[in-house]
Amino acid sequence: MRFPSIPTIIRTFTLYNLTSLRSFSSPYRAIPASPTVRNLNWSMPTFPFLGSLFGSQQKRDMTDYPVKKNDDEWQAVLSPEQFRVIRQKGTEAPYTGEYDKHMPSEGTYECAACKAPLYRATHKFKSGCGWPAYFDSIPGAVTRHTDRTFGMERTEIVCSKCGGHLGHVFKGEGYPTPTDERHCVNSVSLRFTPEEKEA
Ligand SMILES: [Zn+2]
Repeated sequence: MRFPSIPTIIRTFTLYNLTSLRSFSSPYRAIPASPTVRNLNWSMPTFPFLGSLFGSQQKRDMTDYPVKKNDDEWQAVLSPEQFRVIRQKGTEAPYTGEYDKHMPSEGTYECAACKAPLYRATHKFKSGCGWPAYFDSIPGAVTRHTDRTFGMERTEIVCSKCGGHLGHVFKGEGYPTPTDERHCVNSVSLRFTPEEKEA
């Protein structure tokens, strides 16, 4: 069988995501899908096999992070899925993550790889996008990079301490939050603790 072309694959998954966007009447979605929520299609997941196809185009991150481990060392402390998402910039399937619908009133979401405190429970909001969403982070905990894979420009977010991939941040979608930003984070990149922690 001939492998479908890349644009065909992307189009297929765009349709998939637009279809899934219509199921927003779920109890998890506090904010109704309305014209004020714009550009949500940009949050489409980067499917793992696409990620590997485009992986060579991803610019190597030369930032000097305080926590340094090579791939073997990371594989020794992370699960295979965590390694794929955190170290290889993969994406977990939407609506499947442990923290997607997790809405504690207090506590801290730490980096699953290095335990750095990243988000407070009070930063989390219900976006309905299928991944944990935060309107802000603990100051300095998250570093942004421009990600030009898939022929579009997005803002990747990584842990400032270990450089582990968290997800992407989207701006101006119309969510009624103090920042109008959505940190779209993979659950496997996070570990929740009920303690209030500071950076
Ligand atoms: Zn980290």
